[in-house]
Amino acid sequence: MTVKPKVATVWLEGCAGCHMSFLDLDERLLDILGKIQLTVSPITDFKDYDFSETTLGIIEGAVGNEEQEEVVHRLRRCSSLVMAWGDCAVFGGINTLRNQYTPGELIRAGYIEPPLGPGQVAPNDPVLPRLLPRVVAVDQVVTVDIHVPGCPPSPQVLFYALGEILGGRRPRIPPDILHYD
Ligand code: SF4
Repeated sequence: MTVKPKVATVWLEGCAGCHMSFLDLDERLLDILGKIQLTVSPITDFKDYDFSETTLGIIEGAVGNEEQEEVVHRLRRCSSLVMAWGDCAVFGGINTLRNQYTPGELIRAGYIEPPLGPGQVAPNDPVLPRLLPRVVAVDQVVTVDIHVPGCPPSPQVLFYALGEILGGRRPRIPPDILHYD
């Protein structure tokens, strides 16, 4: 029996747009899903997930807290290929706007100081992940094999990359199917 490639896709700091772009593959998505094992998707709680023997790890969004940093390391250790999917993953994107503030300044502005007003308290539950000093792109945390820019990227790139993997080739994305915006 042929072993299907395992594909895991995790969603860090960013919006849902990058994952929603997968849906633009329309009926091609059904074809792909018959040929791969989609082990982790946006509806999977991946925090404690065992990513072992992942063929392609797709990371959407930037890395902004310690929990996300740990997930990225774990996915990298377990994946043959890692793809940074979308501007937020490739260079941090809109999330980097917060880099002009320290985590302490952000928490004070969000929970304590006006306009939220006095009486608000900062969340301090120890289960909450701590913010990193700066939001960073995925390749500032681990090695990335495939960078796919775009906000969101073209789903055509994913279709191409999976076709190459299913053909036993390492994907080299043709520049004419990338777009920058
Ligand atoms: Fe959303 Fe654009 Fe970031 Fe993707 S790259 S997560 S679509 S803001």
